Amino acid sequence: MAAPDNRQHIIIVGAGIIGVCTAYYLTRHPSFSPATHRITILESVRPAGGASGKAGGLLALWAFPSEIVPLSFGLHEQLAAEYGGDREWGYRRLQTVSLEGNLCKTGRVSRRRPASPDVPRDLDWVNRDIIDSWSSISGEDSTAQVHPYRFTMFILRRAQETGAVNLVLGKVQKINYSAAGLAESVTYTPLTPGSVAAPAADSGSDTLTLAGDKIVVTVGPWTSRLLPTCPISGLRAHSITITPVQPVSAYALFTELKIAKGKYISPEIYARKDEVYICGESDTFVEVPETTDDVEVLKERCDDLVKYAEIVSPQLATGRIGRRQACYLPVVDVPSTSGPFVGPTTVANLFLASGHSCWGINNAPGTGKVMAELLLDGRASSADISALDPRRYFVAGPPE
Ligand SMILES: Cc1cc2nc3c(=O)[nH]c(=O)nc-3n(C[C@H](O)[C@H](O)[C@H](O)COP(=O)(O)OP(=O)(O)OC[C@H]3O[C@@H](n4cnc5c(N)ncnc54)[C@H](O)[C@@H]3O)c2cc1C
Repeated sequence: MAAPDNRQHIIIVGAGIIGVCTAYYLTRHPSFSPATHRITILESVRPAGGASGKAGGLLALWAFPSEIVPLSFGLHEQLAAEYGGDREWGYRRLQTVSLEGNLCKTGRVSRRRPASPDVPRDLDWVNRDIIDSWSSISGEDSTAQVHPYRFTMFILRRAQETGAVNLVLGKVQKINYSAAGLAESVTYTPLTPGSVAAPAADSGSDTLTLAGDKIVVTVGPWTSRLLPTCPISGLRAHSITITPVQPVSAYALFTELKIAKGKYISPEIYARKDEVYICGESDTFVEVPETTDDVEVLKERCDDLVKYAEIVSPQLATGRIGRRQACYLPVVDVPSTSGPFVGPTTVANLFLASGHSCWGINNAPGTGKVMAELLLDGRASSADISALDPRRYFVAGPPE
């Protein structure tokens, strides 16, 4: 018979960038030891299968919330220096500009109309004829980028290498509470028979129950499925990638482009080392589906992004189209805050790190670091996160 495992068991639900960074920083905390602690990450389908693998990956010191942005921006830089992030996940500094343009003008005005004279010379992959105006948002001192999928998977592997982190593929169906109202276990459906976490009690059906000393919910847009009172929902957004024949200069473009009389679009276009990422606006047409694999990708939305990208840039017009994808942004539905919620909930042993909106890639290392402090020290010391405390915004707990 196996010896009882007396190690403190932390269960993290969700292997997006927030869950993965929480696991990673737990393993780097001075009081963490594989001899005394173990971590199970439960993930429905695949790590980084949602927004954490499909986001743009822009990092900025001017992102929100100010409570964790400076910490997180700095941690990104540290991680990149420690592990060769430039090579492993395309970390680099870049410039960000705002660009207003008119796609209806193409081809008609190029000879008569002088190209915007002050457009940066090295922003040579944007068709100057379409530019009405531009301005600099930030320089390399305050903007950087990562490839989110590669970053998340790399950091997950580093956490797993400690031997203390077990990734289990299975969808958590519910959080279980003791008679005294403490969070004590989760019930989940394993994805495959081989992905069962031990020790887990067979609850008599195709689900299993896993007990934990602390449970951390990091399921982004799926949060209210597990915590029904939590005001976090999801907004779908489409994106594409294009690999130009030659790499293009390091710019992130926030655009406002006229496509017809009174009609504008605002794609964000991020040049990565090896490809260009383009995402469109979010929509509310479809509810967050069961899993990341069930996200509906509208072909015409992606085709539109391709069409407009080809007008914006001759280099993109001749490039190879890569991914056409969609994912859900986790958004906080509370007027007084744009989120995220990071910290303990009103239920003992139940923690939340979710609702990172459009800055979850930026804020993941900072979130992971403060979550590790909260879980192991009982308080966050790297940043004052009192304004992000979930207890200010909703009451968690077993259904009445
Ligand atoms: C188009 C787009 C572009 C973006 N660009 C940027 C950017 O440039 N910079 C930036 O900082 N941020 C960006 N973001 C935001 C960022 O992607 C998100 O804030 C971040 O990925 C959220 O991470 P997460 O781990 O909370 O959620 P997710 O990545 O959604 O991960 C949640 C995980 O939980 C799992 N899960 C869900 N339910 C369960 C369950 N019941 N049991 C087990 N597992 C479960 C899911 O399968 C998923 O893997 C962008 C977002 C979008 C949509």
